[in-house]
Amino acid sequence: MERRQPIPVEEAIKKVHQYEKHGEIEWVPLKDSLGRFIAEDILADHDVPAFDRSPYDGFALRAEDTKEASSAHPVEFEVIDHIGAGMVSAQTIGPFQAIRIMTGAKIPNGANVVIMIELTKTFEKGGKSFMSLKRPLKKGDNISRQGEEVLKGNVMVKKGTDVTPGVTALLATFGYAVVPVVKKPVIGIISTGTELLQVSDAMVDGKIRNSNLSMVYAQVLESGAEPLDLGGVSDDFDKSYHAVKAAMSKVDILITTGGVSVGDFDFLPAIYEKLGAKVLFNKVAMRPGSVTTVAAMPNGQLLFGLSGNPAACFVGFELFVKPIIYKWYRKENPFSTFAEAKLTHDFPKANPFTRFVRAALQFTGSQISVTPTGLDKSSAVTSIAEADCFIVLPGGTRGFQAGDQVDVLLFQHKGGGSPCWMTN
Ligand code: AMP
Ligand code: MG
Repeated sequence: MERRQPIPVEEAIKKVHQYEKHGEIEWVPLKDSLGRFIAEDILADHDVPAFDRSPYDGFALRAEDTKEASSAHPVEFEVIDHIGAGMVSAQTIGPFQAIRIMTGAKIPNGANVVIMIELTKTFEKGGKSFMSLKRPLKKGDNISRQGEEVLKGNVMVKKGTDVTPGVTALLATFGYAVVPVVKKPVIGIISTGTELLQVSDAMVDGKIRNSNLSMVYAQVLESGAEPLDLGGVSDDFDKSYHAVKAAMSKVDILITTGGVSVGDFDFLPAIYEKLGAKVLFNKVAMRPGSVTTVAAMPNGQLLFGLSGNPAACFVGFELFVKPIIYKWYRKENPFSTFAEAKLTHDFPKANPFTRFVRAALQFTGSQISVTPTGLDKSSAVTSIAEADCFIVLPGGTRGFQAGDQVDVLLFQHKGGGSPCWMTN
């Protein structure tokens, strides 16, 4: 049997990222862009606001005309026009004149200040409209200046950003009726194992339902990529080889589950060899998922051999596959974010390898605490379902007590974590 040399998690991640690729651009209608990833920096093609405008309903006038105003001596202004948002006044304001202006309307020529409607009194005199105010105003007050929010030419949305409702508002502001997004990578999934039943199958003695397929399929969807279920294969070398070989022309990235250990029916390593793929590593100093194996085809296509063990499979996807997908989306930093949290329970197990404990965060005031989800449960699947983070316990540590501060990896965040994350 072949001896495998475990490599540190960070080194394994770096090896995978030597093969990172960027997806191509496609243009989609703005309303279909939610959840997609922006393919190129989006620049502001005009200032926001595009013109000086009023932030209130009120009156536009000249500040210098208000100098003498006080409660005892209100100053009167003739109201020469009335404009709403979207309208532009043809008038120019002269001494002791004002224009009634609504929120969002362009500041009229000659005006340099706006006073809120609530601070004025209006009246009619000699068939004309007037307004009076009782306080001096400072030039420039209550005017939203052209470009005060965004200057033309600024990067508004960085490439790699996922489109949220807020981003769609920005895109709309700048006239993006169609949006440049990154084409989704097609991620094939092959489940290996003679023991696997389909979800709809009745239980059979000695067999288990294929839960990894549904889980990985969902992980791929959640990361915005396109999953392709390529079915299951029994533990048979020829069948598995042909399934993997045929898959490579249909996918950008291939994930297999199971068959990467050193058992009698773990054929994936031999399949990589026969395909001419370069094995980047076949053992990682981590738990779970130490048998995770990644290989690259001569054309750079990646093959992720994830462990069949559901927890290991889940961790393997989050650590190795997801950042490659996020890099595909042209994210500068595709890695998940780390935080620190207070452990709520003892974790007495020693950690010869870096351990990723499925866990759930609790937020109480300014305190973040974290509880392993598998603590009192034997089923790994249950502990995945409840987890929203991994506690990361460094290799070579002896166990942790309730109250210890531990690192947690927030795998639900869409990138932006520390790039050399294990040095964190
Ligand atoms: P393997 O990596 O093929 O040695 O599988 C390790 C363990 O994970 C075995 O107990 C398998 O039965 C189980 N397993 C493998 N594939 C799956 C799957 N698709 N869904 C659920 N469990 C699996
Ligand atoms: Mg197997």
